Amino acid sequence: MKILRIFPKKTSYTPIDSLVYYPNGIIQSPSWKIFPEFDEIHISCSFTWDRKYCQEMAFQFRSTQDRPVKLGGPAFKSQIDGFTQGLYMKPNIIFTSRGCNNNCPWCIVPKIEGKLKEIPICQGNVIQDNNFLQTSRQHKDKVFRMLKTQKRIQFKGGLEVDLIDDHFVDNVRGLSIDELWLACDTDGAFKNFEKAAVKLVKAGFTREHIKCYALIDGDISENEERLQKIWWAGAMPFAQLYRDFTNEKTKYSKEVEKFARSWQRPAAINMHMKKGTDFRSFNI
Ligand code: SF4
Repeated sequence: MKILRIFPKKTSYTPIDSLVYYPNGIIQSPSWKIFPEFDEIHISCSFTWDRKYCQEMAFQFRSTQDRPVKLGGPAFKSQIDGFTQGLYMKPNIIFTSRGCNNNCPWCIVPKIEGKLKEIPICQGNVIQDNNFLQTSRQHKDKVFRMLKTQKRIQFKGGLEVDLIDDHFVDNVRGLSIDELWLACDTDGAFKNFEKAAVKLVKAGFTREHIKCYALIDGDISENEERLQKIWWAGAMPFAQLYRDFTNEKTKYSKEVEKFARSWQRPAAINMHMKKGTDFRSFNI
């Protein structure tokens, strides 16, 4: 089946083949003749604040051609089972498992993907699994074998810090690693994060490789303390403002939005940490 995939915006993740369309804010149907033959249209929506726009597009598209138009994606909590390489993400970005056995209150993964499930492994250098470290040792070994043929490998889905063990560290040490993404979303998670960061630093990884998602809210001073501690532990923090998945985009003050952006720029963060300046002096 040939599927025309439509994404509200082009991102570093979305595919770029001839059966992909980015409407860039336009709701009217494109000229369908510009695309190669296709059987269905899938509108893929990742963020809740794009839902209304995607619904309006679906309405328009259904009225201008007679092929099925399906609307889904994380913003619509579409159930996910398995993975089709290259369909909704660039072909080098892959999942080797779905779901997660944890239940963090801010996360929709267990709700839409269920408990962790290992799936067939395809070739790719960006591992997007939501909780790769919950997979079995046998599965991990198969993934590490596949990764021996890959360059600039990124574990991008967020590695659960208390599951970073010697088996993982010994295996990634022998691979062409570009980025290892950890997560430290609460102050309570810092202790385990620090232990994991120390293991990775001892194995030869630097702040260039060790990145860390850090969920933040509107409390700048409390969040800044955790972000700085992540940097001192040897990782590059990446602030993510908490957005309520059930509502429209959660609103924050301009100062908090600037604070979050300032903690997403590695060069600015390094300069800030080395000089000990206030985040307001970040040049963003
Ligand atoms: S460990 Fe990660 S994927 Fe699992 S529920 Fe928590 S945030 Fe979601």
